Amino acid sequence: MENDLLSQLQPMRRFFESGATQSYAFRKEQLQQLKRAVTANEKEIYAALYADLKKSPEECWVTENGFFLSELDHAIGSLKSWMEPEAKTTNLLNLPGNSRVVKEPLGVVLIIAPWNYPFQLLLTPLIGAIAAGNCVVLKPSEFAPATAALMQRLIETAFPKEYILYIQGDGATVIPDMMKNFTFDHVFYTGSTAVGRHIYQLAAERLVPVTLELGGKSPCVVEADANISVAARRIAMTSFSNAGQMCVAPDYVLVHSSVKEKLVAELKKSIVRFYGDTPENSSEFGRMINEKQFNRVAAYINQGNLLHGGRTDITKLFIEPTLIDQVELSAPVMQEEIFGPVLPILAFNSMEEAQEIIARNPNPLAFYVFTSSRQKEKEWLNRIPSGGVCINNASLHLTNHNLPFGGRGFSGTGQYHGKYSFDTFSHRKAVMRSPTWFDPGLKYPPFKGKLWLL
Ligand code: NAD
Repeated sequence: MENDLLSQLQPMRRFFESGATQSYAFRKEQLQQLKRAVTANEKEIYAALYADLKKSPEECWVTENGFFLSELDHAIGSLKSWMEPEAKTTNLLNLPGNSRVVKEPLGVVLIIAPWNYPFQLLLTPLIGAIAAGNCVVLKPSEFAPATAALMQRLIETAFPKEYILYIQGDGATVIPDMMKNFTFDHVFYTGSTAVGRHIYQLAAERLVPVTLELGGKSPCVVEADANISVAARRIAMTSFSNAGQMCVAPDYVLVHSSVKEKLVAELKKSIVRFYGDTPENSSEFGRMINEKQFNRVAAYINQGNLLHGGRTDITKLFIEPTLIDQVELSAPVMQEEIFGPVLPILAFNSMEEAQEIIARNPNPLAFYVFTSSRQKEKEWLNRIPSGGVCINNASLHLTNHNLPFGGRGFSGTGQYHGKYSFDTFSHRKAVMRSPTWFDPGLKYPPFKGKLWLL
């Protein structure tokens, strides 16, 4: 590893071990400092996100800085209660002792972020890491360079490097370099499943615990009894927000064959209502992050029958909101995470048939079902293991900080948001105190003839 990098990580360990990050007052002040840094740079944040992904300020507010600030305010208001030890009942054997769980900071943690929500996905985990009393290394994605540069300025102005260190560079070089040469106390990774597997292996070498927030194909089922026009609006909004580059976007729709035609008509209507007839001229519609992603997603369009959209312009990294049907389950569009504004619509006739299709990509990050039947809702919940679920909606479960956000299996391990973030970056230490005034002989050897008393 570059000596320079190691020489920046070692002082962080010393800073952590000094105990400076432990107190409530310190943690609260750092969270407030983070808030000041972000609110003072609101315009710059919009400009950077526009430069990287052509996001509108409104979309940024909902999905990036506004989302982040709501998490931050919640953490500032809840910090004291989160830090309190939790009293636990003591079992008979250990009475009259008492028991509690103490929340201990982990140490020096590494947070790695992807490019699709480059601001929010780097700084939201940071809230939990600061709240829990850790030192933090931040590694943004190199593919959203304007946002990465702005966050570097913002973080380095607000915090000393031995407390929060900002490292840029090619992830495939910088991250293994750090993880092979320095023992982090936790790695929090958001990104693709393929790279997540690699991070897990690197972490295993030094037995470093991980949180993996990964991707995958999140299915969206529309039952015959669903409110179709509401379903179409909500599916279209989530599928084409950020040009579909959203980890919890509906990856494909499974619609009951009796309502497929109606759903497609309503989806088309919603797309036009949201972005007009020429979405390339709409300030509400984003762009692909780079040519590599453009080429990958554009290739999916020809893997089905075009129902709507389909226009592309590589010079503008533009892919129109697109609906396709008649896709082969063996085609790449149904094997890989789409992560772009192309939405396959598949028809089903029975739950079993739809479930079999979903099972080809098990444990999705999110699962969505639109139905007006509580019975069907319950059945779907029981049938599909997934990270999270929305019923009659898509993706909004992650905006409630009282709910844990995370995947399972291929879509990830661990959870965050709200108190779950604090818990992710804390060790729950079991503490039992035994009084010395009560010390009966039956607790000591020889035990022969005493066990019946226990
Ligand atoms: P990515 O895996 O390419 O990159 C993510 C991070 O990993 C970047 O910081 C990058 O520098 C680093 N990286 C890249 N290659 C590496 C390597 N070989 N070794 C170590 N680190 C490396 O992911 P991406 O393309 O930036 O993001 C898209 C993926 O992220 C999608 O699959 C999406 O579903 C997923 N995602 C998940 C969530 C979630 O909350 N679960 C949120 C957003 C995105």
